[in-house]
Amino acid sequence: MPLTLEGSCRCGAVCFTCESHTPQPYQLCYCSICRKTDGGGGYAINLGADARTLKVEDPAQAIRGDEGPCEVSTGERSFCSQCATALWLLSPEWPDLVHPFASAIDSDLPVPPSRVHLMLKFKPAWVEPAIGPHDATFDLYPTDSLEDWHKARGLWVD
Ligand SMILES: [Zn+2]
Repeated sequence: MPLTLEGSCRCGAVCFTCESHTPQPYQLCYCSICRKTDGGGGYAINLGADARTLKVEDPAQAIRGDEGPCEVSTGERSFCSQCATALWLLSPEWPDLVHPFASAIDSDLPVPPSRVHLMLKFKPAWVEPAIGPHDATFDLYPTDSLEDWHKARGLWVD
């Protein structure tokens, strides 16, 4: 059974669930979009879940954000229309996946044995990543998919 992720925004207008085979919060993204929309510490953590299982209690409260002119991204980010909490990201390159922000998840998440730091090229100088001895770092995207990373460590949730 995949793990059910239960999430919500700060004000409670948006509650959602989705099923995840890859629930480890190990991917820290330092791109400027993640940082500005959800990553006050310099990065945001994007999870992976099955897009077909995304259930939103009141979908009208979740609005899609404009990516803005600073950088081109095909991803569609959703935010609470009331309190602006960053909720999840859908990317046309990976239509089977939804990427909830770990910060919006209320249910327990596992503690990852190591982390991947990605998009470091876009990290501002003031952000000093805490890179652990088993962590991997990438200027852009990592080489392993969410599925690859979980399966290589026996952490895929069937
Ligand atoms: Zn809200």
